[in-house]
Amino acid sequence: MKNIAILGATGSIGCSTLEVVRNNPDRLSVRALTGGKNWQLLAKQALECHPDLVVIADKSAYGDLKNALSGSQIRVEAGDEAIVAAVEVQPLDAVVAAIVGSAGLSPVMAAIDKGLQICLANKETLVVGGSLVMQAVKRAGVDLLPVDSEHSAIFQCLQSAQTNPLHKIIITASGGPFRQFSSGQLAAVTPEQALKHPNWDMGGKITIDSSTLMNKGLEVIEAHWLFNAAYDNIEVVVHPQSIIHSLVEFSDGSVIAQLGWPDMKLPIQYALSWPTRWSPPLPPLDLAKVASMTFEPPDTTRFPCLAYAYEAGRAGGIMPCVLNAANEIAVAAFLRRQIGFMSIPAIIRKTMDSFSNKQVTTVGQLLEVDAQARETATSLLSAEVA
Ligand code: NAD
Ligand code: MG
Repeated sequence: MKNIAILGATGSIGCSTLEVVRNNPDRLSVRALTGGKNWQLLAKQALECHPDLVVIADKSAYGDLKNALSGSQIRVEAGDEAIVAAVEVQPLDAVVAAIVGSAGLSPVMAAIDKGLQICLANKETLVVGGSLVMQAVKRAGVDLLPVDSEHSAIFQCLQSAQTNPLHKIIITASGGPFRQFSSGQLAAVTPEQALKHPNWDMGGKITIDSSTLMNKGLEVIEAHWLFNAAYDNIEVVVHPQSIIHSLVEFSDGSVIAQLGWPDMKLPIQYALSWPTRWSPPLPPLDLAKVASMTFEPPDTTRFPCLAYAYEAGRAGGIMPCVLNAANEIAVAAFLRRQIGFMSIPAIIRKTMDSFSNKQVTTVGQLLEVDAQARETATSLLSAEVA
């Protein structure tokens, strides 16, 4: 039995993780659940899987959550510090890191320091704190297992590598809903249009990131850290069908790919079952039904966020943290209809340009940069029009 904590249980990845738990009741036991604001769903999940602890980030929801769980013997806590402390629940073997944004960094660092296995969906953790996270992983000797479908694919492809170094990583991108939009059409897209992803059903922030190609940019930085790959050896190819989840090229030119339906249950389950494999969580892949797979290069003129992410990744230091913070602010403002779609890259560009790069050595320093970059990006919002 593997004892797990699900951080961000009420989100898209959190809910899919609970489906994997439901399918594997004799293998997985949930000891802690955390959520942001949605106390109703968190309470429902807790009453279903009886963890020892539930934590809600929003302190104003504590009373409602506590009432909903009265008589259940489940401990209830609230606030950001309590989320970080959730990884101290015992016994615990693994943490599914499914909080969205840089808010996931501190809990992941705490889980690494506790020596827990990390099933990482929260890519922003590696974008913001890649260097410090990887140092901590090495120091603690923990397994950092990718949940992101592309990285799960690369991880699986690499298992055929033996001792051969990989030559190149090829990350596939669906291209999002606006793949064929002109620059003029892009300027006018609405949150409703951007929230309709052609293949994947995901949380709001990552769905917008997919439509700007920032999601792919964040994934390039994530791959850099997870697989110790130079940016020149990480390539992105648009594959609108989302069946090939990513590929690895070896030094003899041979390319290995991992395929599957676009559904997160498989990569989530593999992170939890690794190094073994459990029964399939989905119907088998039917290539005749897929019928055709196509590929094209990404267009960084219409989708500059991908280029900005490469730039920030290559620059290193605080730049990926600044990029991520500006993106979080801009995406939230777009969803509130405060700015237009193309203001998202504009705000990221201006925020990056207003920071001088430097190296930082602690998570506290990174969180300070994160806060400063959010302030800068917020101050730029009023100059943009919706
Ligand atoms: P989501 O918005 O659906 O869920 C996010 C979860 O985090 C929710 O439980 C929310 O309550 C919680 N949360 C949000 N802000 C918080 C805060 N400040 N403090 C504590 N908890 C907070 O997002 P999602 O789509 O499930 O994505 C989660 C992470 O996984 C993201 O980093 C995303 O990039 C990554 N990811 C998601 C998918 C997917 O298919 N959804 C695929 C690959 C990677
Ligand atoms: Mg992905």
